[in-house]
Amino acid sequence: MASDLTVVADAIRANDRFLLVTHENPDGDALGSILAMKLGLDALGKDSVMYLGGETALPPDYEFMQLDGLARTLPGDAAERVILALDSATAPRTRIDPELLAGAPLTIDIDHHHDNTRFGGINLIVPDASSTGEIVRDVLAELGVDLTPEIAEAIYIALDTDTGRFQYTNTTTKAHALAIELMDHGVEPQEIYRRIYEAVPFARQKLKGRALERAQLYEDGRMIASYLLRSDFEELGVGEEYAEGVIDELRAVKDVELAMTVREPPERSDARLRISMRSAIDRVDVSAIARQRGGGGHRRAAGFSSDESIEQVIEFVRSEFANATARA
Ligand code: 5GP
Ligand code: MN
Repeated sequence: MASDLTVVADAIRANDRFLLVTHENPDGDALGSILAMKLGLDALGKDSVMYLGGETALPPDYEFMQLDGLARTLPGDAAERVILALDSATAPRTRIDPELLAGAPLTIDIDHHHDNTRFGGINLIVPDASSTGEIVRDVLAELGVDLTPEIAEAIYIALDTDTGRFQYTNTTTKAHALAIELMDHGVEPQEIYRRIYEAVPFARQKLKGRALERAQLYEDGRMIASYLLRSDFEELGVGEEYAEGVIDELRAVKDVELAMTVREPPERSDARLRISMRSAIDRVDVSAIARQRGGGGHRRAAGFSSDESIEQVIEFVRSEFANATARA
């Protein structure tokens, strides 16, 4: 890891133009990491462009972030830029055209997913890191970039959201130590909490209400599943990104070991359904279930896409869950 860090820092020093990318349907870690890296490269005098693939709108939670520079179309000189991918376990997650990836002068892959496919020419994969933001902090330190309040805030957003506000198992002592460092550089946790978690659009709560209303228990209450239909999003006038967080409410239910949501994305999407899963106990590895359907993620948080029906998808996960817990 130390040597990978040096290799990445050297590669960044040696190049001048970058295309920063992250995964579609970005979360706080994706957005915090890309913004912190952009600000860090600015400080080094590098030319970099932040690009977000896919068509999904940004989640409303992160509207307050300084993301005006986040392009949704590629810059004209994209093919000449070093691609720096953040928080993306696989190349397709970036939604970057495979030809562009293959032809890039260099691809640097920085991530903390344990199942990262190491699709870069240079890979810095740190599965123990709480968040990709934590790794970005180490890269910037290696590059001698000072933590401005803006960089510190972006990294804090990555850290805070990916650890579930310092509550998930990835909340290591290093994660807390990083929080201290970021606070020493101007971050005010209460202010960020208020902006992310207490600015919830009303429609979002209504959407959550629909999912909770429909939730069902399986396997003696150890599994919970719910779904959101295209008509739910249409009636409430919101996009798929509003569904973020619904699954956390399901996982919070007493005795639940596996929570899942199934969403019907907008018509033009590539798959009929998108599935999110969360595990509440270490013995249930939802990334293993996701991989069987071409998806992936972490042990405790994973997802996949499917062309099956909602019933079939729930039944698939239920039977995998039943098998996994029977073996254990
Ligand atoms: P979420 O449920 O929040 O969309 O995703 C949870 C975790 O699973 C994230 O780490 C995300 O990167 C991963 N994940 C979700 N969907 C997919 C997918 O289709 N493919 C892969 N490889 N990972 C996914
Ligand atoms: Mn992450």
